[in-house]
Amino acid sequence: MEMGTHSGNFWFLLGLAVIVLLEAIWLIIAKKQAFPWKESFANFGVAIIKRLIDLATYGVAAGVLFWVYDHRLFTIEIDSLGLGVGFFLLFEFAYYWHHRWAHEIRWMWATHSVHHSPNHMNLSVAARLGWTGLLSGSVLVFAPLAFVGFHPTLIFITLALSLFYQVFLHTELIGKLGPLEWVLNTPSHHRAHHGSNPRYIDKNYGGVLIIFDRLFGTFEKESEKVTYGLTKPLRTNNPIKIALNEWFGIGRDIGKSRNIKQALGYMFGRPGWKPSTEQRASQDAEA
Ligand SMILES: [Zn+2]
Ligand SMILES: [Zn+2]
Repeated sequence: MEMGTHSGNFWFLLGLAVIVLLEAIWLIIAKKQAFPWKESFANFGVAIIKRLIDLATYGVAAGVLFWVYDHRLFTIEIDSLGLGVGFFLLFEFAYYWHHRWAHEIRWMWATHSVHHSPNHMNLSVAARLGWTGLLSGSVLVFAPLAFVGFHPTLIFITLALSLFYQVFLHTELIGKLGPLEWVLNTPSHHRAHHGSNPRYIDKNYGGVLIIFDRLFGTFEKESEKVTYGLTKPLRTNNPIKIALNEWFGIGRDIGKSRNIKQALGYMFGRPGWKPSTEQRASQDAEA
């Protein structure tokens, strides 16, 4: 998720840096593996600048949810276990669609692709989140929860807890977890999510649970070795280039569009959207 929660995020990053270091030491000493230091530093570089941007933009995202909450249909207090479970399932449902649209709509992918651009998997990948969640409109996906009557603070806290859980999905040190794999999003499922192998593209969108992927047909279990990163691998460790890469791509494509319809396709179509060949052929004939 791209929305920040609060300035305590800096402490979160410090804690994350400690466990990333422990994982790195374990990989190097126990597993005799190389560790991608440069890419991992870049992940933290992206994260630190994101926190600074969040400080400036968090109020706007929160403002949107509070505005919607002021116009809510009901007022729902979580005062029973049943309601707590109900809210959690609704939140997971919203998270699933938030994440799915972040992959299927290029305007949202421009922010989320930042998280998918590392070419290695380790805990530092969890720190690498896009800067432009506000521009991509991420908060709108959660607005219906506030509109129904759940308090924005509850939504933000649940989101923060979900992201905290998801930190531990970004590792190769945890294998498969038996029956938990049926219900929970696990490191194995999330490794597949980060794969650019054709079979792994646009799969496993869940946050804490994997059940909505099973329900909506986007589940894929980790089988063949995962190739991490974008289908067109990003080779830079410059945080600014990393964070703006897809926006530059959108800009380039808008520049070569021949009409508004094509420009809108490049902005809001699926990532990789192109005008249909017939459309291009007829335009070439006209030209
Ligand atoms: Zn994703
Ligand atoms: Zn991830």
